[in-house]
Amino acid sequence: MSSSPRIAVVGAGLGGAATAALLIKEGFNVRVYEQAPAFARLGAGIHVGPNVMKILRRIGIEDALAAQGSHPDAWYSRHWETGDILARIPLGEYALKHYGAAYLTVHRGDFHELLVKALPTEAVAFGKNLTRVEDRGHDVLMHFADGSSESADIVIGADGVNSRIREALLGPEEPKYAGYLAHRAVFPTPVLERGMLPFDQCVKWWSDDRHMMVYFVTGKADEIYYVTGVPATHWDLKDRWLESSKDEMRETFRGWHPTVQALIENTVEVTKWSLLERDPLPLWSRGRMVLLGDACHPMKPHMAQGAAMAIEDGAMLARCLKEVGVSHYGDAFALYEANRAERASKVQRISHDNTWLRTNEDPSWCFGYDVFDIELVTPQAR
Ligand code: FAD
Repeated sequence: MSSSPRIAVVGAGLGGAATAALLIKEGFNVRVYEQAPAFARLGAGIHVGPNVMKILRRIGIEDALAAQGSHPDAWYSRHWETGDILARIPLGEYALKHYGAAYLTVHRGDFHELLVKALPTEAVAFGKNLTRVEDRGHDVLMHFADGSSESADIVIGADGVNSRIREALLGPEEPKYAGYLAHRAVFPTPVLERGMLPFDQCVKWWSDDRHMMVYFVTGKADEIYYVTGVPATHWDLKDRWLESSKDEMRETFRGWHPTVQALIENTVEVTKWSLLERDPLPLWSRGRMVLLGDACHPMKPHMAQGAAMAIEDGAMLARCLKEVGVSHYGDAFALYEANRAERASKVQRISHDNTWLRTNEDPSWCFGYDVFDIELVTPQAR
C-alpha cells in the first residue's frame, strides 16, 4: 500500500474524473468516490472548447475524443424567425491555429466514458454516496450511505450543485433556481426539406427571451442535439429534470424558423432541466477540504462552459498541489483559488446574462486559455 498522502475526490462527474486523471498522471495517490452504482450515459451533447482539449491532451484522450466528435467550422448565431446570421465565430482550422486545439461538439456520454476509462479501475469506488465528512485535523473521515467510512489526507469536493462538501464548509443552502429551464434532446439528424436551411454544425437560434442551441454530436453528423434556454417562473427544486413533449416544444417555439420546427417534429424524446446557480462563494476551501466545478460555482449553461470550468479547476488544482505539495495543502488551496476565482466568476456572470457570441466578438480569452501555461498569481493575504 502506498504511504504517500491520500487524496479523495468525491464525485466522478466530468470535473471529478478529469481531476483524478490529472492527479494520477502526476503520481498522486487518489481514490474517487461516486454515488452512482455505475457509469451512466446521459443523453445530451456538450461543447468541448480548445481550453479543455489542451487538458485532455495531458490526460491522453484528446485524439480519441477528436475522432468521435463533430468539428464545427464556426459557431453561428441566427435570428429565431428569419434565420438571418447575427454572428459567425470561426472555429475549425482557426481554433487549431489561434487557440492551440480543436473545438468539438460531442455526445456527453462518450466524453464522460473516455474520462472514466482513463482512470485505473481500482481508483474509482462506485455506489459510495457521501453523507457526512469530518475534518479531524490530522485527516478527514468520510461517511457513506452504505454504512462504510474511509479517511483521506485531503478531500476534493467535485460533487456537483448539491455538494455535501460545500455544505460541510458553508452550511446547508439550496442552490437558486435561475428562472430558466433547458429542454434537451438527441436524435437522428432529420432529412432536409423545402424551406429549411442546411443544418449548421453548431448554431444558436435567438429570440429576445429564449434560445435553442443545436449541433451534431458525432463526426458522421448522424446524431443531432438541441438544448434550449426558456424562461419559466416556477420549478420545484426536488426535481432535477422532468419529461417534456413535442407539444410543449411546439407551443414554446411557435412561429420559429422552419428549421427549428423540423427539429421539433423529428424529436424522439425530450426532457427539461432546471437551471441552477449560486452566488460566488466566500471561500473555496477550509482545512483539508476544497471545492471545484458545480460544487463551487454552478452556472446557467448559456456559455457552454460549465464543465469546462470544472475541468480547468481540476487541472489548476493538480498544478498547485504539484507545485506546493500535498503536505502544504492550505497554501496549495489558496494558490488554486487565487488563480481560478476570477475566471470562474466571469464565466458565471456571462452565462447568467446569456450574451456569449450572440454578436461577433473575440472569444480568445476563453478558448485560448491554457491552464498549464498561464503565469500563476500569488494569493492575497486574508
Ligand atoms: P457534476 O457533473 O454534477 O458531477 C457531480 C458528480 O458527483 C456526479 O457524478 C454525482 O453523482 C456525484 N455526487 C453528487 N453527490 C455525491 C455524494 N454525496 N457522494 C458521492 N458522489 C456524489 N458545460 C459545458 O462545459 N458545455 C456544455 O455544452 C454544457 N451544456 C449544459 C447543458 C445543460 C442543460 C446543463 C444543465 C449543463 C450544461 N453544462 C455544460 C454544464 C455542465 O453540465 C456542468 O457544469 C458540469 O457537469 C459540472 O461538472 P461537475 O463535475 O462539477 O459536476
